[in-house]
Amino acid sequence: MTATIIDITRDHDIALRRASDVLGEGFPIAIPTETVYGLAADATNPVAITRIYETKGRPRFNPLICHMADLEMAEHYAVFDPISRKLAELFWPGPLTIILPLKAESGIHSLATAGLDTVGIRLPKGFASELIRAFGKPLAAPSANTSGKVSPTSAQHVADDLGEKLKLILDGGSAPVGVESTIVRVEDGAIRLLRPGGVAAEEIEKATGLTVIRPEGPAAIIEAPGMLASHYAPGAAVRLNADHIEAGEALINFGSRSPKGIEHSAAVFDLSPSGDLAEAASNLFDYLKRADATGATRIAVSPIPDHGLGEAINDRLARAAAPRE
Ligand code: AMP
Ligand code: MG
Repeated sequence: MTATIIDITRDHDIALRRASDVLGEGFPIAIPTETVYGLAADATNPVAITRIYETKGRPRFNPLICHMADLEMAEHYAVFDPISRKLAELFWPGPLTIILPLKAESGIHSLATAGLDTVGIRLPKGFASELIRAFGKPLAAPSANTSGKVSPTSAQHVADDLGEKLKLILDGGSAPVGVESTIVRVEDGAIRLLRPGGVAAEEIEKATGLTVIRPEGPAAIIEAPGMLASHYAPGAAVRLNADHIEAGEALINFGSRSPKGIEHSAAVFDLSPSGDLAEAASNLFDYLKRADATGATRIAVSPIPDHGLGEAINDRLARAAAPRE
C-alpha cells in the first residue's frame, strides 16, 4: 500500500470526502493540525483504534487524545468542572488538551483511553475541525510517526515514515505550532501541567489567574501514561546545552549564538536566528530531522531559554537526548 496524498487547499472538497470515507471504513489517515500531523481514526471504533497502535508501533497503555469539533461534542463524552470549562472557553480551538472524567457508555472506545476512566480532549483548528464535523464523530489521533521517533510537521515527513502503511495523507503545508499540545488536568481546583506544549504555561496562568503546577522533575514527567523518557529520537545522538562544538557534530542553534568551534560543525540549523521561541518551536522537529539527515553521528544543541514555548522545546529535546533502550 502506498498512501495517496491530497492537498487540502487545492482539493478541499475531495479531501474532505475521501477522508470521511476512509475513516468510515475503519482506517487511520494522516491529517494536518496546528500542532503536528496526526494519525487520526474513529475514536468509537476498536478496529480503527487498533490500527493506529499497530501503524505507529505504539504501546497500548499509552492513551490517545480525542479530537472534537466543538464544546457541545466534547460535553457528550466528558464531564467538565468549572475550571476545565473556563480553560476550554479560553483556549479552544487550539493546542491545549484537557484530561477529563469520561462519561461511561458515551461511545469513546476504551482502547482510545487505554482503559482509563478519563479522556484527553482537544479541539483542533482549521481543516481537522471541519473534518471532525463532517465525519460526525471524535477522532483519536496521536502524532503520525513511528512511536519514539521525531514527530512530523509536514506531509512529506509522514510519507517518508509511514507512507507504505497508510491509505491517505492529507497535505496542509507545514504545521504552524510545530510541537504537540500542552496537556493539563484540573484536580482539587488546581491546574496540573502533565506535558508542556503549544500553549505556554505562563499564558494559562495569565488568562486564568491560577498557578499552573509543574511536574516535579523528570520522574513526574513520566507519570502521565506513556510519557517514556526516550522519545522524539533522531538516529544521531543528541547533546544538549552545548557551549562548544566537537568535530563532526551538526549544530541546532538558537538566537544566532556562536558556540566555540562552530566552524567545525558539519551543518548549522538555527531554530530562530532572532531568538523567537514560537518560530523555534515550529522549526524544531524539521531541523532535528534535517540535522539527522546530514549523517552526523551527534547533534549538538545550543541552550534554549526555558520560559514560554521554550518549556515545550526543552521537554522534547530532553527526550530526544535521553538514553535509548
Ligand atoms: P501523543 O498522542 O503521543 O501526543 O500522546 C498523548 C499523551 O496524552 C499520552 O502520552 C498521555 O500522556 C496523554 N493522555 C492522553 N489521555 C490521557 C488520559 N486519559 N490521562 C492522562 N494522560 C493522557
Ligand atoms: Mg507522538
